[in-house]
Amino acid sequence: VLEIKDLYKGFGERNVLNGLDFTLHKGEVVVIIGPSGCGKSTLLRCINGLEKIDGGDVILEGSSIYDKNIKMRQVRQKVGIVFQSYDLFSHMTVMENILLGPLKVQKRDKQEVSELARELLKKVGLSDRENDYPRQLSGGQKQRIAIVRSLCMNPDIVLFDEVTAALDPEMVREVLDVILDLAKQGLTMIIVTHEMHFARAVSDRILFMDHGKIVEEGEPEDLFGNPKTERAKQFLNKFD
Ligand code: ATP
Ligand code: MG
Repeated sequence: VLEIKDLYKGFGERNVLNGLDFTLHKGEVVVIIGPSGCGKSTLLRCINGLEKIDGGDVILEGSSIYDKNIKMRQVRQKVGIVFQSYDLFSHMTVMENILLGPLKVQKRDKQEVSELARELLKKVGLSDRENDYPRQLSGGQKQRIAIVRSLCMNPDIVLFDEVTAALDPEMVREVLDVILDLAKQGLTMIIVTHEMHFARAVSDRILFMDHGKIVEEGEPEDLFGNPKTERAKQFLNKFD
């Protein structure tokens, strides 16, 4: 469903992505791990069309998202992204936040989207919060709302960038459980995380990234149990 080919991206003199390749299949859950600054967030932003690229290509469902004839708006509807900072609009209720994209951008039917939203709110345990404002919610609750908002756009792929990094430890679990659930339902996802136990539990495949390249990839048991490269060994030794 997604193919990254020889991707290059730099900021000024600094090369951040250095000829990165990988393919994501439909229904697959891929976790990307790697040291701070290695380019994980930049990669997700390139997949979502939020950055200009310097070389290579990102092929989504058969066409390059950087093709002049492709509208970025269409790409962003197919590829959802959830960030560390949940950026909900503070002057809008939970439900208004969720409905904004589907109604304003996608011009979908309010009734239909509201029903979907309620169903998803129930799944993440926040049925009774649709009329609350973001300030009335905890960090973990806001992050679950941000996930619901992304899912209501009916994306083909969802990207998660360290969605628990800003949360207090006791709220991390509730958000990770929601993502685990989505994985079981077969949603196609790329997850960047520093939570290694979660990475192992949720993923079909792990990519270890360093200096803007995929250095090693494999099934979670292999990569965590028996890393092949010195670099991955060093990195994983810092955990546990
Ligand atoms: P972390 O684990 O800390 O989130 P990361 O792997 O997500 O790190 P990126 O955020 O992708 O790393 O950043 C990779 C490099 O690109 C860093 O050296 C960073 O300083 C640089 N960089 C990222 N965004 C910009 C920008 N908009 N302008 C200039 N440099 C940038
Ligand atoms: Mg990052």
